[in-house]
Amino acid sequence: MEGLQGWDARGRWDTIHLAGIRDVADRTIFDKIIAREIPATIVKEDDKILAFKDINPVAPAHILVIPKDRDGLTRLRRATAEHIEILGRLMLAASEIAKDESLGFGDGARIVVNDGKVAGQEVFHLHVHVMGGRAFTWPPG
Ligand code: 5GP
Repeated sequence: MEGLQGWDARGRWDTIHLAGIRDVADRTIFDKIIAREIPATIVKEDDKILAFKDINPVAPAHILVIPKDRDGLTRLRRATAEHIEILGRLMLAASEIAKDESLGFGDGARIVVNDGKVAGQEVFHLHVHVMGGRAFTWPPG
């Protein structure tokens, strides 16, 4: 019993629980960009995230930031507490990109996650839109 309580205290069950989770959703075009099977203009990359120019920009500066490992995050509402680190990395990368004048960003940006078809989501691999270089109106369309 003591041993089991020790595992519990060290969060070992969490690890076992995670091991059972599978991402079985269809792959998307973003996996091909990650694998360099199709070209993209990559502006930022580390071991966990990739950021590249949107192929159909809606602002002078329009970057998408994605997790390299989708890990079930087809859309934002699939997020759980296990995703806190990657969600933080995505937002930190978005904030750094939004300050990058060499990419066309100025003093402010519109940072958006479309969650589901009703919100306009077309690619089901979580991504953060970072848009700038012009003024934006509110509410969005
Ligand atoms: P969503 O509508 O899902 O929030 O945004 C998907 C975004 O991905 C769109 O803005 C679209 O222009 C962009 N996109 C779709 N296919 C490609 C592609 O092959 N390359 C790049 N760079 N962007 C893409």
